[in-house]
Amino acid sequence: MNNKFSILVVEDEKNILNFICATLEANGYQAIKAFTGKQALMYITSYCPDLVILDLGLPDMDGGNIIIELRKWSQMPLIVVSARTSESDKVEALDAGADDYLTKPFGTQELIARVRTALRHSRTRDSVEQVALTGCLKVRDLTIDLAQRIAFINEVNVHLTQIEFKLLSLLAKQAGRVLTYDYLIKNVWGPNADSTTRTLRVNMANIRRKIEENPAEPQYIFTEIGVGYKLADE
Ligand code: CA
Repeated sequence: MNNKFSILVVEDEKNILNFICATLEANGYQAIKAFTGKQALMYITSYCPDLVILDLGLPDMDGGNIIIELRKWSQMPLIVVSARTSESDKVEALDAGADDYLTKPFGTQELIARVRTALRHSRTRDSVEQVALTGCLKVRDLTIDLAQRIAFINEVNVHLTQIEFKLLSLLAKQAGRVLTYDYLIKNVWGPNADSTTRTLRVNMANIRRKIEENPAEPQYIFTEIGVGYKLADE
């Protein structure tokens, strides 16, 4: 197969770098190695990989700055892999534009699952046409009609308020990705909104009550505690 997805792996610890690259190659991807931030930025522009896997703690610069640099000109999918486990580090990376965040240590299965999801997003992001044609977003039994501003579960209208609808469509447009509290609040209530999460949480609880069979065990909207929410994508 010569049409492999190419993945740039940026990691200064040689063992981890080799482990990630071997895992990717065993799963049919082409891996490109970078040890430093400088190398990473150079390879991103010269190889234009399909996906970047990025360690935050690099010898010459913070991985966060690479995300910021990259997002100035590219929507290339990017997964952060880091030993930093704090919620604020995750929030920071996601807000800077990372698509996903994986905490070390992680298993090969999990890595490959995240890679697959991130690559799928890069394709769905390009297929906005699909939404333009049908005017609908569909996740399992949930259908969101963007033109009519109505959401259905199994074709039954779930009667969302305007705010609830806005929140759900934001999540659906990037299903499978964690959207941070801050991102959701700014996109629903505006950039100057007071960024407390209370109102957001109340609205999310209401959406869950309307779309989930059992809101205590959600099948659609998942909470990433201290970080944000994501909608199931399959
Ligand atoms: Ca490191």
